[in-house]
Amino acid sequence: MQIQLKVKGQSEDVVVGIDLGTTNSLVARVVDGEPKVVADRHGRAITPSVISIDEEGHAVVGDEAKTRALLNPAGTLTSIKRFMGRGVDDVTDVAHLPYKIVRADLGEQAAILVHGKKYLPQELSAMVLTEAKKRAERAQNLRIRRAVITVPAYFDDAQRQATRDAGRIAGIDVLRIINEPTAAALAYGLDKGKRGTVLVYDLGGGTFDVSLLKLTDGVFKVIATTGNTRLGGDDFDNAVTDVLVSNLSEEQLDAVRGNPRALSALKTASEQAKIALSSEDETTVAIDFADLGVAIERTVTRADYEVAIAPLLDKTMAAVDFVLEEADLDPEDVDEVVCVGGSTRTPAVRARLEKEFEKPPHTELDPDQVVALGAALQAEMLSGDGDNDQVLLDVTPLSLGIETYGGGVTKLIWRNSPVPIRATEGFTTQVDDQTAVMIHVLQGEREMAKDLRSLGRFTLRGIPAMSAGMPRVLVEYFIDANGILKVTAKEMTSGTKASIEVKPTYGLTDEQVEDMILDSIEHAEEDIEAHILADKKAEAESMLRYSRKALGDHGELVPDAIRTGVEIAIAALEEVLQGDDKEAIEAASDVLNENTAPIASAMMDEVLRVTVHGRTIGDVLGSQGARRKASDIDLSKE
Ligand code: AMP
Repeated sequence: MQIQLKVKGQSEDVVVGIDLGTTNSLVARVVDGEPKVVADRHGRAITPSVISIDEEGHAVVGDEAKTRALLNPAGTLTSIKRFMGRGVDDVTDVAHLPYKIVRADLGEQAAILVHGKKYLPQELSAMVLTEAKKRAERAQNLRIRRAVITVPAYFDDAQRQATRDAGRIAGIDVLRIINEPTAAALAYGLDKGKRGTVLVYDLGGGTFDVSLLKLTDGVFKVIATTGNTRLGGDDFDNAVTDVLVSNLSEEQLDAVRGNPRALSALKTASEQAKIALSSEDETTVAIDFADLGVAIERTVTRADYEVAIAPLLDKTMAAVDFVLEEADLDPEDVDEVVCVGGSTRTPAVRARLEKEFEKPPHTELDPDQVVALGAALQAEMLSGDGDNDQVLLDVTPLSLGIETYGGGVTKLIWRNSPVPIRATEGFTTQVDDQTAVMIHVLQGEREMAKDLRSLGRFTLRGIPAMSAGMPRVLVEYFIDANGILKVTAKEMTSGTKASIEVKPTYGLTDEQVEDMILDSIEHAEEDIEAHILADKKAEAESMLRYSRKALGDHGELVPDAIRTGVEIAIAALEEVLQGDDKEAIEAASDVLNENTAPIASAMMDEVLRVTVHGRTIGDVLGSQGARRKASDIDLSKE
């Protein structure tokens, strides 16, 4: 593959690669032929895939959301990627999560319930994408319109569609959805003429993904892939948590389990301990949940930790064996092993891979960045003139079929077929004069429709009345380079044509996406308004506190009429503070400010007088300085 470099104008409209991760997301772009992650003004390249939603429905995303995790455990959303394009019934193992998974208002889709409001995973991922995009744009004065977004290789159509929808909601033209291992291989330049077999071992925060890629003449193909959408660094954290709480009594455990704030703190401490154990031989964790009567102080050694995560590593290695078997290869047939994902910094992970393949895995690139870097290379290539476009051969993770009479399934596209792919199959009617047929699109490896995942159904109408078996309905399945499935059906005998595009059940319709975009724009305005109002109210309340105190402490310094004026102004401001009228609050605050001015100046006079009596001006001004500070604190607390 050749990288196309373009001379760009001043208002730089760039294409980027985005790694929309379970734990963290990253944006990268190609600069002078080299892919680089885009850091923000503070040098932060990573946007945590974390959203914090408060009681009023205001959301903050990224680092700020992460820091609010302790204050707002029930409104802090992590690992959203696990729920992308998933049905509520597909979602299990939610015990460790501080939020609830519920059925979306429409269909079977999983939604997340926060402070009584349901959010779709696509919407939440769109918030993460928007934040990552905004950061990158601001840092380097860029405009990001187009992007390649990566997904795990085993994401099914619904999950890919949900990712694409998230991109659209975030205002991004998604050039292509590519597989993460494909991106990792690109980042290591493994497409540059090398032949061979590469195993990509990707252990991130919440997902594990192992893929075998075969390189031929610079083009690669995923020959086998498997993974686990619920295995990753989060589970390593949980393993540390289990070590940390192993000495607690049942009652203490219950107390911690029942307290989202404690759970959240414990998780943070566990992750920190885990990271420390990648470079230290031991680490000590001390947390005191005084209100629960639980104190934890424990030194965890690397050996303790490795014992605790051994079953998790075994699971990953079983998956490695599985893909090797599937591709009919032995470990020695693998030429290169690539580490992807933050959790591959764990020395035990690298050691296990080195033992299995008898060679050290590739860890030269930052395992957190490698996917984004590869996506950036791909984005750059796709944005070029097309001469050098190479089709990246990815594979379908699961077979795709159609339900036939009696509940059976005819497969049109087999698992691990390279995409893009087109497959057609002819069908006919079961009864005389049947004028419509139902096309039910299914995904999975089993034989009966009821055991497979339903991706969508549609009805082909307008078939001319004929005897059973006469109509010829040609159904075509087409998976494009993004891995998105389109199904069309045509009745051939009569020439009657009808075609339809099927979207995965958990994908969103164009209208729904439009609605969400409009909704978020509307909310943006509301959010700003609500913030301004909250600030004004906080300011007014702190002025009230100060005025009451000034009146109480120094009221005797001014004449009765002025005191009465202040009292009236206080009452007026208290009154308007009951409502949400920003202008009225502002006006009443101004009136109170004017009325208290004589007390303030009388206080200043008093200061000077007191100084004469031997106190320093600093003492007295110090208390004024403290007042100003106190009101600042009040403001940020509101
Ligand atoms: P990713 O989803 O690829 O960004 O991976 C994030 C995961 O990597 C999280 O579970 C982190 O706790 C984990 N991680 C980050 N740094 C380290 C480290 N030095 N050692 C072990 N795990 C780490």
